[in-house]
Amino acid sequence: MKTLSGLSLKEIEEITDSLKASKFRARQIHNWIYLKSVKEIDEMTDLSVKFREELKQIARVSDVKIKVKQVSSDGTIKYLLEYPDGECVETVLMRFDNRANLTACVSSQVGCAVNCSFCATGKRGFIRNLSYKEIIEQVLSIQRDTGLKVTNVVFMGQGEPLLNLDNVLKAMEIFNENFQIGARRLTVSTSGIVPQMNKLAELDMQSTLAVSLHAPNHEIRKKLMQIENKYDMKSLHTAMKNYVDKTGRRITIEYLLIKGLNDTIQSAKELAEYLHDIKCNINLIPYNPTADNDYQRPSNNSIMKFKYLLEHSGKKVTVRLERGADIDAACGQLKGKVS
Ligand code: SAH
Ligand code: SF4
Repeated sequence: MKTLSGLSLKEIEEITDSLKASKFRARQIHNWIYLKSVKEIDEMTDLSVKFREELKQIARVSDVKIKVKQVSSDGTIKYLLEYPDGECVETVLMRFDNRANLTACVSSQVGCAVNCSFCATGKRGFIRNLSYKEIIEQVLSIQRDTGLKVTNVVFMGQGEPLLNLDNVLKAMEIFNENFQIGARRLTVSTSGIVPQMNKLAELDMQSTLAVSLHAPNHEIRKKLMQIENKYDMKSLHTAMKNYVDKTGRRITIEYLLIKGLNDTIQSAKELAEYLHDIKCNINLIPYNPTADNDYQRPSNNSIMKFKYLLEHSGKKVTVRLERGADIDAACGQLKGKVS
């Protein structure tokens, strides 16, 4: 039994060829899968009943199940999806005030090997990579369930996308070509895997690269992120500069704010100094509580003070709106488990 979701037009043509149908049928099926997001072959109403019956003998739309669906009071939807081997990941759909923008936050791996101290995903360790089909199935599942068209994709769910780069790049290509989501509407977030960042620079990636920096200096970053022992802030700085030089693109810096740890005036000054020659925007993420540690979110007052100090250095700074915290769908709260 073939699964149609995730297939390229060429692969769908192989199926229609095997049924002795025209290439035009393949184009129709492709549209039903990627643009109209049907759940069943029977919904492909411009195919004859006879052809649909033949197709159903050898193919199905998807093999991914929605195991749990939670809707937050702010409209954010979190899905726990199950793949045929029983592994699960979470995918989140965020609607911002401007309803025309529907952003899917997708996972790239089951679990994560990087194991940052503040992150619920890291606590599970690394289980396996997702294939590019499994990545795009997350967006298709959202579209099938809501009947809405996703307009933006961020790789900010579970996993480190740069440690599964081939599948992530292939998924991005499909988002671009099959879903008609422009490169500028795709964002890849990394904890700072330097060699792969250099590879993206070589590839001249035109999507947004977001770097999870989270600290103003080596000592603090080491406490938060073990990856700092492998690729330290110095090498990260070089890699970011190289990326900006090669692609001409501005980087997004993600900076988690944790009370008393990296939210001081001194930290803001050091951070501004570290970033002074990097073309970037800064996105401050007030820490979202998870069960496994006792970090705390700073007060709104100190968040605003930190923001002000950074803005003073000439950077554009935003504070990330918290989405779906009441259903544990906010950043860092994704565990990929039912409870
Ligand atoms: N592995 C990649 C992408 C997924 S994480 C990365 O780390 O960049 C997406 C973002 O959520 C990262 O910036 C991550 O640091 C942040 N995050 C993790 N745990 C968090 C928490 N408890 N509160 C707020 N943000 C968190
Ligand atoms: Fe992995 Fe990102 Fe979580 Fe760190 S923050 S453990 S890199 S998913």
